[in-house]
Amino acid sequence: SDPLLRVENVSKTFRTRGKKLRAVQNVSFTLEAGKTLGIVGESGSGKSTLGRMVLRLLESDKGKIVFDGVDLTELKKNKLRALRQDMQIIFQDPRASLNPTMTVRDAIEDAMAIHEIGTKASRRERVVELLERVGLPYEVQFAYPHELSGGQLQRVGIARALSLNPKLIVCDEPVSALDVSIQVQVIQLLRDLQKEFNLAYIFISHNLAVVEYLSDEVAVLYLGEVVEQAPADELFKKPTHPYTRVLLNSILKIPDSPENRQTMVSIQGEVPSPLNPPSGCAFHPRCSFATDACKTVKPERKKVSEHHIAACHLVQ
Ligand code: SF4
Ligand code: MG
Repeated sequence: SDPLLRVENVSKTFRTRGKKLRAVQNVSFTLEAGKTLGIVGESGSGKSTLGRMVLRLLESDKGKIVFDGVDLTELKKNKLRALRQDMQIIFQDPRASLNPTMTVRDAIEDAMAIHEIGTKASRRERVVELLERVGLPYEVQFAYPHELSGGQLQRVGIARALSLNPKLIVCDEPVSALDVSIQVQVIQLLRDLQKEFNLAYIFISHNLAVVEYLSDEVAVLYLGEVVEQAPADELFKKPTHPYTRVLLNSILKIPDSPENRQTMVSIQGEVPSPLNPPSGCAFHPRCSFATDACKTVKPERKKVSEHHIAACHLVQ
């Protein structure tokens, strides 16, 4: 059967002050209903741009995005609204996406009203149910955003997304701003809700450890390009691209064996500016394995195994 979401060769270039910024380049993936694709990369790697393009909150320059059998890139703007209900987003800073003058109840009810779901009375009932489901006390519905903690607000954001019965939620760094103990709770909540409602997630994070718990598949982005993509267990057991290994080492996930120690790499330097990406392999200035060829020849994405790809000259 067709996947819920198919993204093919999607690219986006921004023009800023006469310069080209290639934010996302030729990214492809598929996502099945009820599954999670983790997208990992440092800031400026194009993760959020990619997430927004999937929802068509931002237009892609080229490529195809097919959601539930509909090619979004071909869809007229006025046809988007019905689909918007099926595709929701939760942000790192839920405060920014909540109207400060609206109570929690009104904010969630309003989202449902825009999509003409139920009556005012039934929507209010649903708000109460949803808040309970995401672990918030009854009284929170009467609160304003400034009266709530970051963790509570994120739960409100989740409840609001759920109120529209979506099939896909783009989670853009949803726990990055929260305390670690709260992060774990929110991630567990997202996982429980996924099972209960058969939700598909695109889970965006700079932190591989956060992504590991939820993801079925992981794509690692570096300067707008997927440098490695694999089923999550394979990526964590057999990271192949030197950048992925750097990310994994930084969370101490690689078992300490002589073989792994030999392949340990340390991160060097800052992320290069996407306005002026390095030649050849964009990772070469930071890569412990870089050869002269890496400075001039851009590595193609190659198969490491059937569902595992990496873009590095070391992959034969
Ligand atoms: Fe490192 Fe070369 Fe592989 Fe790029 S292609 S990741 S520089 S070894
Ligand atoms: Mg971002």
